[in-house]
Amino acid sequence: MVIVVGNWKMYKTVSESVEFVKTLAPLIEGSQAEVWLAVPYTAIAPTAEVAEGIVIGAQNMNDATEGAFTGEIAARMLLDVGARFVVLGHSERRHVFGEGNDFIRRKLERALSSGLRPILCVGETLEEREAGQTEETISRQLKGVSGDIVLAYEPVWAIGTDKAATPEMAQEVHSFCRTILDVPILYGGSVKPENAEAIMAQSDIDGLLVGGASLDPKTFASIIKESSK
Ligand code: PGA
Repeated sequence: MVIVVGNWKMYKTVSESVEFVKTLAPLIEGSQAEVWLAVPYTAIAPTAEVAEGIVIGAQNMNDATEGAFTGEIAARMLLDVGARFVVLGHSERRHVFGEGNDFIRRKLERALSSGLRPILCVGETLEEREAGQTEETISRQLKGVSGDIVLAYEPVWAIGTDKAATPEMAQEVHSFCRTILDVPILYGGSVKPENAEAIMAQSDIDGLLVGGASLDPKTFASIIKESSK
């Protein structure tokens, strides 16, 4: 089964989110792909209410069940409002907010024990790729990781840059990931309607994680169409 995930990051109010879901639904009717949307926290409940056939999730969470952690959010709170999955270890969390592998792994374990499906993002920086350290970086990010997760390979240099990995480059890393974990593996980083089909044609690419191009329902719908041809 192909999984296409939209990651909205810090975009869209509640009314914009609900309008998006209502516009997207008829555009993807009959699609073979599973469509997941990682929306802002405030939009989880209202989108989950109208999202027939679209799975709603969150973009982050804390590793504790609850506690004195001002500004954080717990897995059970996300489940409570209708989230079914959570994106963890996104490169913006790692590089802008300084999250490390141990913290991310603890979040992953908490998500799993709470019944929230984690999408774990891994990927190397341009520096690491150029130094020949791609596999080493990913091995470190996957250390101690197991369970019913979805993996997303997102090379940091391809996120929001319009420089997607070539399908062959992505395939190489996906097949490496597959030797470590036998789970669905998505590719993310500058996915567009124009490159989705070629990326999805690779044997170890099971789906897509789409940032910028998931903000417009028509563009996102055409990626979904291209991905499941
Ligand atoms: P992008 O982002 O599609 O805008 O490159 C991908 C992501 O951040 O998951």
